[in-house]
Amino acid sequence: MIIAVDGPAASGKGTIARALARHFGLPHLDTGLLYRAVGIAVLRGGGDPSVEADAIAACGFSDGMLADPALKSEAAGAAASKVSIFPAVRRALMDYQRIFADQPGGAVLDGRDIGTVIAPDAQAKLFVTASPEVRARRRHEELARMDIATHYESVLTDIRARDERDMGRATAPLRRADDADLLDTSDMSIDAAVQRAIALVENRKKR
Ligand code: C5P
Repeated sequence: MIIAVDGPAASGKGTIARALARHFGLPHLDTGLLYRAVGIAVLRGGGDPSVEADAIAACGFSDGMLADPALKSEAAGAAASKVSIFPAVRRALMDYQRIFADQPGGAVLDGRDIGTVIAPDAQAKLFVTASPEVRARRRHEELARMDIATHYESVLTDIRARDERDMGRATAPLRRADDADLLDTSDMSIDAAVQRAIALVENRKKR
């Protein structure tokens, strides 16, 4: 069974996807890491993530790069959302994701276009969301736990900018697939959101 989990930044989709993978015994791919790896590779090479040629040149990153802790930084997230607007970058990362999705037994993938582009035939699709304010608060708290000093307002501004880029791009914009279940986690604890996600997937399995 392929489980597609899409949603905006800091919606809780990563935590939910990992929990689903554990629950259903499936391998999990956080596809944001691929775009983050391209973004970081551009920055390290002294390029500009908003320049298409720089972004394309960085698509040949090594697998080892996916474990680099630098991928978790806000800088990597911002660079990722810039390189991800280029169709050639999205094409370059597509095979990796489709091969992962098509492995025997299935897989859980989370990202922005899994249910719409990468695995449109996925048996279960979740669109995980939360208000920008709730997502900014969560991200702000997460950064504080990592001892990274930020202001809530600047995190909120970044989240809004990322939403705008992810939803506004021409190729594979972030949107809910017509057949995806909506999971708004604004007023939910992580545990409650995970339980709800499991119930929604169980339901899809029965169909
Ligand atoms: O999910 P994460 O925050 O790690 O993603 C970083 C950026 O990578 C997103 O803001 C988005 O622009 C891009 N991305 C994408 N398609 C995906 C996953 C991530 O465009 N499937």
